[in-house]
Amino acid sequence: MAAATNIEAFRLARRRDQNLGLGSLELEVWEGRGVTVNLSFIEAAFKFCCKIIARLSPLPSLLTLRKMPLPETPFVIEGGCNCHAIRYRIQVPEVSARPLNPTSPASESIRLPMIAIDHCNDCRAATGSILPTWMCVPADMMAVSLRPAPPVDPSNPRIPIVDNDGPWIPALEALKDGSSVARGSTVRWFNSSPKRTRTFCGHCGTNLTYAIWPMVQGYPDIFDTLVGTIDRIYLEKGWMEPERQCWWDKGIEWVQALSFNGSKAPRHPSSRVDESV
Ligand SMILES: [Zn+2]
Repeated sequence: MAAATNIEAFRLARRRDQNLGLGSLELEVWEGRGVTVNLSFIEAAFKFCCKIIARLSPLPSLLTLRKMPLPETPFVIEGGCNCHAIRYRIQVPEVSARPLNPTSPASESIRLPMIAIDHCNDCRAATGSILPTWMCVPADMMAVSLRPAPPVDPSNPRIPIVDNDGPWIPALEALKDGSSVARGSTVRWFNSSPKRTRTFCGHCGTNLTYAIWPMVQGYPDIFDTLVGTIDRIYLEKGWMEPERQCWWDKGIEWVQALSFNGSKAPRHPSSRVDESV
């Protein structure tokens, strides 16, 4: 009778801590006909094997897929609003010249700029994004180029970036609330809570930065800059991947799961849902 018994289904559940050790797997087996193997079991088994191999290997393993750190040499990135009336340039010096994050633990030197996904309620609502991501940039590394609002021309709604190359104004002068330097530009401010100022483009509506005035003691002045406004040519660098997730305790459970584990939703090359990748 035992020989005639087939496994009908495997059901695999991960514990909520997502620890892929053996203790995290729960397997239930029923007797019956046919064989059905849940794909999540294969995926979990594969990841578990990868983890064992990675632990056994003395060499850095591709299987660990660690995030690339920001370059230690000086680098420059640029970005701006969707209509290009506001452009910014971030010039990051070599690593030893970057300030330490004041909350950096003793065991590790976390320097600024730092790139972080933000789970807080205020930034989610202000940006309209379930996963706003910030580059926390010391203000003295950032400069801004401002142009008047482009003419309303539906066929050409953006200012060509090539025509918007300076003059570069220190961000501390251009982006502070009510800056006289920004007069005539499209920079607008919104105080989302006391001493917290967000900037956005009054022409195209792009959210750009968040800052605290005066800054919390111990910190340099910082413009948290929305990573989605950084030009794609820089975003494609592997080191632009967020290195932290902040305000986790304020997060929404399915958004946390999406951010931590990735989306398993069907993928389509365009807006058409009858085509898949
Ligand atoms: Zn704009």
